[in-house]
This record gives sequence, C-alpha cells and structure tokens, in this order.
Amino acid sequence: MKITGIYGGQFFDPLAETLLPCDLLLHDGILVEAGPHLSRQDAAIRILAEGLWFSPGWVDAHVHLFHAPGHLGLPAVPHCLMNGVTYAIDAGSAGAADFAHFHQHILSALPLRHKAFLHCALPGALPTEPGELSSLAALDKDAFTAVSTAFSDEILGGKLRLNPGVCPQHPEQALDEALEMTGQLGLPLEVHPNFAPIPTTVLLNALRPGDIYTHTFHDSSIGILNTHGQIKDSVWQAQHRGILFDTAHGGSSLSFPVMQAALAQGFLPDFISSDLHNGSYPTPVSSLAEVMSKFLAFGLSPAQILHRVTLGPAKALDLKDKRLVLQKGEMTALTFFRFAEGAVSFTDGLGHYKTGLSRFVPVFTLLDGFWYAREPLQTC
Ligand SMILES: [Zn+2]
Repeated sequence: MKITGIYGGQFFDPLAETLLPCDLLLHDGILVEAGPHLSRQDAAIRILAEGLWFSPGWVDAHVHLFHAPGHLGLPAVPHCLMNGVTYAIDAGSAGAADFAHFHQHILSALPLRHKAFLHCALPGALPTEPGELSSLAALDKDAFTAVSTAFSDEILGGKLRLNPGVCPQHPEQALDEALEMTGQLGLPLEVHPNFAPIPTTVLLNALRPGDIYTHTFHDSSIGILNTHGQIKDSVWQAQHRGILFDTAHGGSSLSFPVMQAALAQGFLPDFISSDLHNGSYPTPVSSLAEVMSKFLAFGLSPAQILHRVTLGPAKALDLKDKRLVLQKGEMTALTFFRFAEGAVSFTDGLGHYKTGLSRFVPVFTLLDGFWYAREPLQTC
C-alpha cells in the first residue's frame, strides 16, 4: 500500500473557525488519517507543508468559464484550479441558446467542481455592446425553463445584467420578468445592477431571500452607499432579509473607496469572488487569491476571508458536493497556501491604489487524488 504523507501544515476549519496543526495520510488520494504529529514511517512519499495553511478547497462564486469565440470566459484550469479554486461557479456566461454547448464542450470536461447560473437572456452575457438585452424579447421564459429543467443538476439560478449598456430600456420590466422566470422554478436570481436607472430600494425590495446582488462594491447611484458614504438602510435590511451580496471584483465593478467605507461600517459580503473574465484579467484581477489579498489589505482577518470562499458560498448556495470537512475514507478537495509577507500594491482598476503587507499565495491543490502545484513540492 503506497501512502502519501503531508506533514507540518495547519488546517483552517471553517466550521469550527479553528486553525490547528494537522498532518494527512492519503492512499491513492483517499484520506486515511488526519491529525497532529502523524508517523512518517508509513508514508512512501512525504510532502513537507511547514509554513503552509490549508483549508477546504476554495470556491469562486463568480467567474466566467465560457472560453469560446463570442464569449468572455477564461479557461478554468490555469485561472482557477492552479490558483487554489476547486469549485467554480459560472455567473451566467451562457443563456438558453447555447448552454448545452457550454456544458458539453467546457463544463463537463472540467476536473474541478462547478455549477452555473443560466443567463435569463437567450444569448448569455455578450462581451460587446449592444448587450444581450437590447430587446426584452431575449427574455424567453419557455427556453429558460426548458434548459433549467434539463440541466437542473448544474444550474443554480438565473442571471440578469441591468447596466444601461446591456439593458438600455425598461430595466424594471426586465427585472420583473427575470424574477418571474426564476420564481416559477424556485430558483434564485443573480442581479448585476451597475448604473441601472433603478433606485437601490426598489431593486432590493423586489429581490427575494436567496437572490444575489452582485458587484457589491461597485460605484454608482444604485450602489450600497448613500451620498454621505453610509450604507443605505435598504442594503442593511436586504442583507438581514437574506439577500446575498457577492463581491465579483471584475474589471470596473469594485471601487476601493466603496469597499473601505463598507467594511469600516461592518458591512461584509457573503462571498468573496473574482469575476475573472477576459476583460478583467490580468488586471485589475489576476486570481481569486488576489481578491482575497485585497480584503486582507483592508483589514479583514484570514478567517473572515476564508469563510467567504468556503463555508459561506457552500451554505448559501447549497453546494451539496462541496467538501468542508476532513472526511476519512473519501477523496479530498484541499487548498494549501502561504502568506507572503512584504509590501504589495493593489489596484481596483478605477485609479485607486492600496498597499497591503501580506497576501495569500496558493502553493498546491489536492483534488480527487490529483495534485495541482504552482511550486515544486518539498519532500522530507
Ligand atoms: Zn461577471
């Protein structure tokens, strides 16, 4: 029996919110033992993880994976899996017109766990203007229902973008229709609100518990801050009511001043996510780890950050196949990382800069018996 041991790491348990020394013994990828100071004699291969933390594999709750002509996605293995993400959620890249193609040629071939939001508009999220809602006829209820039903294991909910470049007319009608399309199937709706000519209160009051307000820290009048820089009452009320707030950094959808004001008032998003796509990569976002590091620079603790890429999305999005515990007898999905200390400068892509003193650096990922390493593994 060929055993691999991983020694000297510290496990962050998001359920208990603890950080404890933890060695692992694996047989063909199956976890056989976990705990401090395990014997090194049983292992044929011994990996040294001293100085590393590890946690359940990270979830990126908002990324674009439709890597094909006419779409804005990026390939998942180099951008997600090699950067510590074992579970990626596509945020509505495809609509009913091409979800089957997206699923067959991209999603089903991925080695990492995945789910997707189905765009409420037939063509999905178009990368150029006019966007997918230049005509509201693109909100085809029958097609949405048929595809959501056919791919019910894969699809978590519906997606809608309301920014004027995408939806130049009647955004409130588009919102009503998308709520109806998803509501009749019992699915949540993820709304991209940036610059939509709808009052925040009207939008948030229309959303139901479990619906998602994405691009939480974008800077527009439909954002989370009032003109005095305070979190709007309707935003606090919405979060209290169970509306989920998604970070989704993206190319121009996160403003450091908005983020700083919100975090200082104790308003935290439910998910920390990248919104990686071919317009946001490589700057201002190169990886989920970079977004996590920005939160570190703004004063969130590692535990607060790790919660929002593990237990937070797993629970809120009901990801039943997301592993959160070290379960003996099962395959693992774990992200090993370290903190690189030293001054680092971040940009939000809107002309703001922030200096941090530490950042998350994924080192290797263990998923279903396979290793995805960014650096040569050290042995002992
Ligand atoms: Zn997006």
